[in-house]
Amino acid sequence: MTAGPVRARIVDGFLAERQRVNRHHTIPHGFDQLERSGTLDNLRLAAGAGGRYRASADSAGFTFPFLDSDVYKWLEAVGWELGRAADPALAAAADEAIGLVAAAQRPDGYLNSYVQVVTGGPPLADLAWGHELYCVGHLVQAAVAWHRALGDDRLLAVAVRAADHLERELGPGGREGVDGHPGIEMALVELTRVTGEPRYLALAARLLDLRGKGLLGAGRFGAAYWQDHEPVREAATVAGHAVRQLYLDCGAVEVAVELGDQGLLAAVQRRWRDLAQTRTYLTGGMGSRHRDESFGDPYELPPDRAYAETCASIAGVMLGWRLLLATGEAGYADAVERALYNGVLPGVSLTGTRFFYVNPLQRRTDRAWEPPGHGERAPWYPCACCPPNLMRTLSSLERYLATSDDTGVRLHQHASADLQAPVAGGTVRLAVRTGYPWSGRVTVEVTETPDRPWTLSLRVPGWCRSATLTGPDGARPRAVAAGYAELARPWRAGEVAVLDLELPVRVTEPDPRVDAVRGCVAFERGPLVYCLESADLPPDTQLEDLRWDRRRAPAAVPRPDLGDGVVGIAVPVARGPAGVAEAGADGLVAGAVPYFAWANRGAEAMRVWVPR
Ligand SMILES: [Zn+2]
Repeated sequence: MTAGPVRARIVDGFLAERQRVNRHHTIPHGFDQLERSGTLDNLRLAAGAGGRYRASADSAGFTFPFLDSDVYKWLEAVGWELGRAADPALAAAADEAIGLVAAAQRPDGYLNSYVQVVTGGPPLADLAWGHELYCVGHLVQAAVAWHRALGDDRLLAVAVRAADHLERELGPGGREGVDGHPGIEMALVELTRVTGEPRYLALAARLLDLRGKGLLGAGRFGAAYWQDHEPVREAATVAGHAVRQLYLDCGAVEVAVELGDQGLLAAVQRRWRDLAQTRTYLTGGMGSRHRDESFGDPYELPPDRAYAETCASIAGVMLGWRLLLATGEAGYADAVERALYNGVLPGVSLTGTRFFYVNPLQRRTDRAWEPPGHGERAPWYPCACCPPNLMRTLSSLERYLATSDDTGVRLHQHASADLQAPVAGGTVRLAVRTGYPWSGRVTVEVTETPDRPWTLSLRVPGWCRSATLTGPDGARPRAVAAGYAELARPWRAGEVAVLDLELPVRVTEPDPRVDAVRGCVAFERGPLVYCLESADLPPDTQLEDLRWDRRRAPAAVPRPDLGDGVVGIAVPVARGPAGVAEAGADGLVAGAVPYFAWANRGAEAMRVWVPR
């Protein structure tokens, strides 16, 4: 039996608050924006209403043909939310959107408002840029969410017809073609799991096998942009557009797991190792180049010019999670945690209604020009991929917490949650309580257990240098190392295990091969990366003037102004070059805040990497 996700509910604490804001502010805001931007109207046009199609174009004049996917991602989020608890207003908005999606679908199953309304041409005529399969992929993922969370199969009926249409056109016996934007592959595997119909899995495998044969051509940015330069099982490194590569590899892991294809899985793991070691920001952000939203060369990780699209961090969470399920290796859970807390969460404001598309690790005080997307968060984007992607990710966070198999239950992410997991001989129920990420104590009470012994495994993050585990047997706490700390025993209901992770402030040095931040350090605590922001500087100080005064240690300090329980870091700083004594500058301290919380008090100067 392979490991699978368990039923979980996040009950309180940090992630519960992010979910609450997402449900009550971000998702309703999303529906409002889908109406205002014309994205829902575009589906009304496809369904036969009169009017003009609304879609923005990028700087090269390319009109965005993929806006339907924003509706699907929003619907996926609402599916997870309604599965957690009813909400009549949210349900009414979703009913409206589902009705539009169903009405827009052609009788033969084809569904894409841009092609149906704007080009009027035959379907699948522009596989390179049309995003038609990409959109169906998001439709399928929304349909799977509604099926799993609610047993509501209205969207599933639409998704099956759309997938059947694609399968007739591009499946075995059809023509050879792949989408310029991967994403449908992982969705098709899920559709097979939900329906039992193997043709969708076969189509996913076929799309993976056909990529890398040059079917898409070079396009504007070269064949690597859409990973069509080398076969999926042969490419040694990630390449091209970051989100495309990461979504493609999500599909590759899903297909590899379903078909028992170890070679395909190994190819993804090889690419991931290279990605993690050479092309990932400290924040878990990926994709450093603006021009084509691509990975840079190895160690090309500039903090000020970073792209680090929010969607790429989300895709990093999705891929890390799939690799964790496929291999059980704790390092993937570490990567999920880093990307979630420091790459995904910064994408949305604490209020839940302003978003970052681009996530730089530095913003300068003096800036005559900066790359598009830097600066203040925006309420929406002409290319609005990130906001609804955040919504569905936050709505489904509990899926990333734990897995179980015959031998027991593994907790991968620490959050206050009630869990229900199948193990050999019955069901395990756990009540996990923690102040994570602000405090490192995780208490796990077993509230229901079968008679047979099983193993409780708790992840000790790779960043943690000192941790203890206390079992219910009366023994003294024992030191545990990074990885999974295990307690195997015949459990009794009411027994408690306690994991204590020490959370000192860590001063992190960059890899010396990252030229852009050589001579700097970053401050971290627990899973969180911190940054200095101009709002927290001593009076009359410009951020760029400061360096860390390494004679004095940084210290954790409460920051109630940023939310309940929030912990900041007091960073001793000095002005000017190291070694130059400055009169009256002793004792100067700057407050560092968690990077996810930056740009909530105006987006002035900010930096993660601080000179020493
Ligand atoms: Zn995006």
